[in-house]
Amino acid sequence: MSDCIFCKIVAGEIPCTKVYEDSEFLAFLDIKPVNPGHVLVIPKQHYNDFVSMPAEQAAKLYTVVHKIAPGIIAAVGARAFNLGLNNGAEAGQIIFHTHVHIMPRQLKDGLVLWPQREYTEGERDIVAEKIKENLNNL
Ligand code: 5GP
Ligand code: ZN
Repeated sequence: MSDCIFCKIVAGEIPCTKVYEDSEFLAFLDIKPVNPGHVLVIPKQHYNDFVSMPAEQAAKLYTVVHKIAPGIIAAVGARAFNLGLNNGAEAGQIIFHTHVHIMPRQLKDGLVLWPQREYTEGERDIVAEKIKENLNNL
């Protein structure tokens, strides 16, 4: 897409610090990292978000993530990482060219994960039933 920042990175119109590339995917350093070595993995083809990707492409995206994550964290002296994928504006997606965040983690690095809550009485069963209804026909 012509106005997409990540498409412009793929096209070489905007610079990036590339760390991995193959015919279909590109990985580069996030410009504002959670920790050093925070990498974004993107398909070269534009998809607004993860659910817009054909299943085969989505699987390949995570195959690339699986392949490159160990080398990324080792390079910054980390042993752990978080994966992040923000799908949709409410989930914090800002760049609407789907991407996976690989975020190396260090002990006590200050990154706080999401807060959790308890289900209210009966809520869990209602939610589970609705989900199963939607997934029945897959
Ligand atoms: P989102 O919230 O959409 O999952 O994350 C978008 C990410 O892209 C952010 O972490 C942001 O720092 C990163 N980002 C935004 N613009 C650029 C850019 O021009 N170059 C690079 N390397 N990263 C970017
Ligand atoms: Zn794009």
